[in-house]
Amino acid sequence: MSRFPDVSFMLSAAAGAQFPPDHGVEIAFAGRSNAGKSSAINVITARHALARTSKTPGRTRLLNFFSLGADRRIVDLPGYGFAEGPRAERAGWAPLIDALRPRESFRGLFLVVDSRRGLADADLELIEWADPVRRRIHVLLAKADKLTRAEGLKTQAQAVAALKGKATVQLFSALRRIGIEGAQERLESFLEAGKDSV
Ligand code: GDP
Repeated sequence: MSRFPDVSFMLSAAAGAQFPPDHGVEIAFAGRSNAGKSSAINVITARHALARTSKTPGRTRLLNFFSLGADRRIVDLPGYGFAEGPRAERAGWAPLIDALRPRESFRGLFLVVDSRRGLADADLELIEWADPVRRRIHVLLAKADKLTRAEGLKTQAQAVAALKGKATVQLFSALRRIGIEGAQERLESFLEAGKDSV
């Protein structure tokens, strides 16, 4: 039985005006393009094609909202590799995610990082953007199946050091199903904690 039985795609937004009402609790998922974010959303929610919706052409530069029922949402942010690219793309991306930042319902962030690359400056900037004093942040070191156990532990220790207590971190693999339960529990606890503070 899924922990998130009522998950469904809500809407794609190109501007803050299209976001759902700022009510309830939402947890954002972010990561560089290709980090494994869509796969992570799919296995954590146990809906195998859910985040594929956000990969359909035209939707990759949008914010995609998924409902978990009971006024709880996941917000899938555009992958940000391209944000370092052409100016026009950056110009579209920044106002969109900046419209998310002040929302009261935005209570936590899952940051998906390719474990072979580790945390990059862009990832640390995103953590600052999310305001780690106000919000809970969890880092998934994704595609951990590509690392040996020793490499995984080393990568995790390096991430813990780089995060300086601003976020929790775990190894994760959608493919080999490493760390799924832990990620689900973390998401649930973020949703619950967010509910109390609204
Ligand atoms: P996104 O761009 O961050 O949403 O990343 P995707 O979830 O689409 O994954 C990008 C690529 O990485 C795809 O080719 C996936 O098949 C692959 N991938 C995703 N998760 C895993 C994983 O846990 N292990 C491995 N080995 N590959 C993965």
